[in-house]
Amino acid sequence: MMRIVLLGAPGSGKGTQAQRLQSKYGVPQVSSGDLLRDAVARGTELGKQAKSVMDAGQLVSDDIVLGLIRERLGREDAANGFILDGFPRNIEQANALNALLEEIGQPLDAVLLLDVRNETLMQRLAGRRICPQCGTVYNVHTLPEGVNTCSKDGAELYQRPDDNEEVIGKRLSVYDEQTKPLIEHYSKLGLLRKVAGEGELEEVSERMEAAALAKPVPASKVKVTRSSASRKAPSSKKKSAGGAAAKSAKPAAKQGSAKQAGKKAAGKKAAGKKAAAKGKAAGKRKAAGKSAAKSKVAKKAARGKVAKKSSKRPAARRVAKKAARKVARRPAKAARRGGKARAKK
Ligand code: AMP
Repeated sequence: MMRIVLLGAPGSGKGTQAQRLQSKYGVPQVSSGDLLRDAVARGTELGKQAKSVMDAGQLVSDDIVLGLIRERLGREDAANGFILDGFPRNIEQANALNALLEEIGQPLDAVLLLDVRNETLMQRLAGRRICPQCGTVYNVHTLPEGVNTCSKDGAELYQRPDDNEEVIGKRLSVYDEQTKPLIEHYSKLGLLRKVAGEGELEEVSERMEAAALAKPVPASKVKVTRSSASRKAPSSKKKSAGGAAAKSAKPAAKQGSAKQAGKKAAGKKAAGKKAAAKGKAAGKRKAAGKSAAKSKVAKKAARGKVAKKSSKRPAARRVAKKAARKVARRPAKAARRGGKARAKK
């Protein structure tokens, strides 16, 4: 059972990866683009309506696409799962999909986001050539010079009409404006898994597979103790910032909790530092000639501040308090020394 959505810009490799997952796990690839192209090729009424919109790189109306998806997911081979490729493409489609999946009792397992840089997308799309027989995707940049036929069945490769630079630009901006918001949408639902989409095809496929098969960790099973969270925070933060989340294909929900723990710990550390710095600043002022009595008041005030700032973290409070006391003591000693010197005179 595999019920997933592949999210990613045009040219990110959704189709290729969906085909690979399909042949390995026997779960059908359901591509809204393929369904539309099929309708165009058959010259149906719906296909005629969709053609000009597709050629312009715009999105076909939600009703048309949703109708095709509903029909496709109702077929027998999709009863045990599906790999949605290119659908949903905006928030309205995501909500409609959610309602449809609830209706047919097939909730999503995960949404895999294929992460690819813009310049790579442009290069991939402009050079893309496809086999009309088996759908294998090639690229002129990697095909041997002069070769324009499929290595599997010898059919002559073709270029999609919307794979020209002008339309590619339009499709990429439609993705940015309408589809990208789905990243946050699915992230909030705890379904998003980011996968690095560049590199060797085999490597990307391995990462996709790992992401597709990763079991989500239910919130009730995540145990974070305060002390271990604050100790481990810096390294877990480093991991997600470096994009390793993609490579290790951790569920977004898990990454989120690690990130939050890191933020909390950093915040507390900062509070301790701030308090110590305040104590230090107060100490400097006193050393400039304030009386010992005044420094005692400042010392108390510094202590009060420290306790208030870090009241939630006993360890941080102890450290900060100690630092503040040390600083507060210094000017008092200096003032005493100054007093003695004056008395001697
Ligand atoms: P694709 O094969 O996914 O790159 O899609 C090719 C074209 O089909 C897009 O540029 C759109 O015009 C149309 N299309 C595919 N999927 C959708 C969708 N979910 N919603 C609206 N239009 C779509």
